[in-house]
Amino acid sequence: MRIGTPLGPDPTRVLLLGSGELGKEVAIAFQRLGVEVVAVDRYPHAPAHQVAHRWHAIDMTDPVTLATLIEQEAPDLVIPEIEAIATNALVEIEAAGTTVVPTARAAKLTMDREGIRRLAAEELGLPTSPYAFADTLDEVRAAIGRVGLPCVLKPVMSSSGKGQSVLKDAGDAEAAWEHARTAGRVSNPRVIVEGFVEFDYEITLLTVRHAGGTAFCEPVGHRQENGDYVESWQPQPMSPAALAAAQDVAGRITEALGGRGLFGVELFVRGDEVLFSEVSPRPHDTGLVTLATQRLSEFELHARAVLGLPVDTSLRSPGASAVVYGGQELTAPDYEGVAEALAVPGADLRLFGKPTAGERRRMGVAVAAADDVATARDRATAAAAHVRPVPRAGDPGPAGR
Ligand code: AMP
Repeated sequence: MRIGTPLGPDPTRVLLLGSGELGKEVAIAFQRLGVEVVAVDRYPHAPAHQVAHRWHAIDMTDPVTLATLIEQEAPDLVIPEIEAIATNALVEIEAAGTTVVPTARAAKLTMDREGIRRLAAEELGLPTSPYAFADTLDEVRAAIGRVGLPCVLKPVMSSSGKGQSVLKDAGDAEAAWEHARTAGRVSNPRVIVEGFVEFDYEITLLTVRHAGGTAFCEPVGHRQENGDYVESWQPQPMSPAALAAAQDVAGRITEALGGRGLFGVELFVRGDEVLFSEVSPRPHDTGLVTLATQRLSEFELHARAVLGLPVDTSLRSPGASAVVYGGQELTAPDYEGVAEALAVPGADLRLFGKPTAGERRRMGVAVAAADDVATARDRATAAAAHVRPVPRAGDPGPAGR
């Protein structure tokens, strides 16, 4: 295995499809290994654009635009960092000889909730909540009848809680369907109705498929609000039986998706029982905590694994992460409270540098290490609470723009 010189005649070049906060850390991990990084997103100055050798803003859901760019850049590896990509184009690109990470099939199956749920539950027989799919309000009502109440309704093409509702009563069906229609990626969505799982806790099991086999990180525990991650910590204590079941499920789903790279396997745990929820064939937002906890962060593990290099999933310290939200609509915001955040013992901060903020838009994350998880959670939460995106000095405000 050789790595070429970036910007030289024969670089080792990766093309990141998706340039958000996770892509930014992946780009930095590759930069540190002397790999040439080309970052792509739908809008200019996305987080990973700012740390790449070159960047492009294109519509990645358009197969011709995507295939043309890949042909032009001729990367050694195509690395999807988001779900909303023309995955059929990736299948063709892979067939023509370019490596897609971890595989084009994995990107295609995890692009929507249906492909991965059917693979996990129906082909592999992994334990999941009961579920049914629906395309109309009548089908939603029938699906609720089959799955039972309470249940969760989600657009199949969605993530981070967008368009998601918890239904306690059959009368909630219409409002949940309307919410999915207006908040999802498409106007007339197919939805999944899942039985609501009364879990004790939920984890992300970061799982690395690398040249030497499969390795697991310590489990990451997390707390979600409205389907979006607000806080995570590592390690999440688990019974030996639950940990063994979690590793078994994660090993089987990642084996079925194949290829090399880091996967975020989302699991619900109730006693010793583990239910499969979802999997990302790439670093996971809750795994941002590994920036404070592991010898190699999930981003460094991903970079090493896809290049065929050795990995080390060992934990260095317990730690936690807490999200910094925009809080309001802003263009090119300033950030206050950074010094106060970094004065919290053991705390560190990542500001993503996004060109615009929104109320629930993730603008940064605080991470903290400590001797125990409880202290780390307090530190990360305290640090995140100090940071406030504010209108920049001289910003005329929405009315004046
Ligand atoms: P998802 O977008 O599917 O990862 O869901 C986001 C979060 O919503 C999960 O991490 C859970 O906290 C919660 N959630 C999703 N599906 C279910 C379910 N079937 N039962 C209970 N909680 C759920």
